[in-house]
Amino acid sequence: MSVEQVPVQRADFDQVMVPNYAPAAFIPVRGQGSRVWDQSGRELVDFSGGIAVNVLGHAHPALVGALTEQANKLWHVSNVFTNEPALRLAKKLVDATFAERVFFCNSGAEANEAAFKLARRVAHDLYGTEKYEIVAALNSFHGRTLFTVSVGGQPKYSDGFGPKITGITHVPYNDLAALKAAVSDKTCAVVLEPIQGEGGVLPAELEYLQGARTLCDEHNALLVFDEVQSGMGRSGHLFAYMHYGVTPDILSSAKSIGGGFPMAAMLTTEKLAKHLAVGVHGTTYGGNPLACSVGEAVIDVVNTPEVLAGVNAKHDLFKARLEKIGQQYGVFSEVRGLGLLIGCVLTDAWKGKAKEFFNAAEHEGVMILQAGPDVVRFAPSLVIDDADITEGLDRFERAVAKLTKA
Ligand SMILES: *Cc1c(COP(=O)(O)O)cnc(C)c1O
Repeated sequence: MSVEQVPVQRADFDQVMVPNYAPAAFIPVRGQGSRVWDQSGRELVDFSGGIAVNVLGHAHPALVGALTEQANKLWHVSNVFTNEPALRLAKKLVDATFAERVFFCNSGAEANEAAFKLARRVAHDLYGTEKYEIVAALNSFHGRTLFTVSVGGQPKYSDGFGPKITGITHVPYNDLAALKAAVSDKTCAVVLEPIQGEGGVLPAELEYLQGARTLCDEHNALLVFDEVQSGMGRSGHLFAYMHYGVTPDILSSAKSIGGGFPMAAMLTTEKLAKHLAVGVHGTTYGGNPLACSVGEAVIDVVNTPEVLAGVNAKHDLFKARLEKIGQQYGVFSEVRGLGLLIGCVLTDAWKGKAKEFFNAAEHEGVMILQAGPDVVRFAPSLVIDDADITEGLDRFERAVAKLTKA
């Protein structure tokens, strides 16, 4: 028996949805690899990857296989029971990283919420009620719950919702002196994205992360890396902390970890994990068998030398061509980022106009992203074909040519 489907259009969005998004004029209906088709049958190259989520593109056979196999077995049991996919995925994450313990949840915000609560809980248990301050970076993004917008360094997301969570200090990113001045014995955690994603695809400097690690150790504070966007292969390493060689105490992962299925994880050590004893934290869906079976397939494919080396090779393809486009049309002052998380910083003449690049690209049949008003962002599948990269960048160049001529 199939469910009756009434026809819908983009105009319906404004009639039935809360207006907190402004989606593009077309509706994608199908995807294969790095190509997407809309309702009218128009085909687009996907360089957006569902905002750094579709790590293996659309309809990857390993993910479709894992999901459909699990769909016929067991969907959900809650955490009153454990399940095989969750245990298998947790083992894989433990084997592949610094972590010894895993907490599963459903979104980046939830992974960070768990990370921040754990950091505060550890400090409370070990050092008492006065050690709860969190030091985070200006312009950072950690999600949209009240705790995560409060830790995130962008007032536009945290203002206007009543009292914020207190005890949070924001310092300029990549400024070790400012971090040093902010961290004290009252600090329970320093929270950083190894690559600021929403804030403009800005990678950390090595000395900054090393310095943060040292400061945390000196003050009995925990180093929390938000790898929601930078993790699961996107940087060319399984996690960006491996690129830097700086190990956090707590790491949050989401977006790519589910390859398009909503799922997230907080990773930590055994010593810290024990502070989240039975009943201290929880979630109904976290570690759901459907999500974890997809997550297993994702890490199996992504965490291989071929795929990770491919990410770095594809980075070079993007970077060389984007730098050329930037110079030829005078639009980019810098092309930055790691692996397949790439940001093109707009020149002064184009500052504030990233949305115009997004629209122009869409008209030429390529889906891209912005990272704030001043940066054009690319976060494609990690296994995107080189031919798709070339075709998509040809389309993008046509978009830039038209935009700059207009
Ligand atoms: C996307 C993002 C989040 C929030 O993830 P959600 O799944 O939207 O809750 C948190 N941190 C970073 C670095 C992100 O890029």
